[in-house]
Amino acid sequence: MKKAIYPGSFDPFTNGHLDIVERSLRVVDHLTIAVLKNTSKKNLLEPEKRVELIREVFEGNDKISVETFSGLLVDFMKEKNTNTVIRGLRAVSDFDYEHAVFLMNNRLLSEFETIFFMARADNSFISSSIVKEVSSLGGNIADQVPAVVYRHLKKIYGHD
Ligand code: ADP
Repeated sequence: MKKAIYPGSFDPFTNGHLDIVERSLRVVDHLTIAVLKNTSKKNLLEPEKRVELIREVFEGNDKISVETFSGLLVDFMKEKNTNTVIRGLRAVSDFDYEHAVFLMNNRLLSEFETIFFMARADNSFISSSIVKEVSSLGGNIADQVPAVVYRHLKKIYGHD
């Protein structure tokens, strides 16, 4: 059984992330969506809340588990007994960062591999940070996030 980890902040989980998860299940049999806890980014949602929302999105799908993790990704990978991570690439701007992260992880774990999925055209403009900003200002992001995430953001910001 081929397993992989999809690590990220997912603050919040968007339709861009959803597409990457669905497509990765054409390549792997089981995916662990791993919500990073020790990120230096300023977050809106607590990691446990992010996990809860993502679990709701994939309720009933036993090919997907959702967990938090902290510390080194390679240590979490050893724990999960996999050498493969999934990442999404939107624009050239994602490439430099992803390349640097790959090179570092590959140094830390020689069998480390990343499978990259290119964002589909209609998702390539979606980012968690822009979703948060637009939502906080009252813009409608209903077509950019799963319904459970949309409802939660609406509750936080008190409007559509
Ligand atoms: P991180 O802080 O690790 O970049 P994110 O939650 O921002 O976490 O992103 C997780 C992964 O999903 C990254 O590989 C990112 O490039 C990818 N991703 C984010 N948004 C999209 C999108 N709209 N389409 C495809 N991939 C995306």
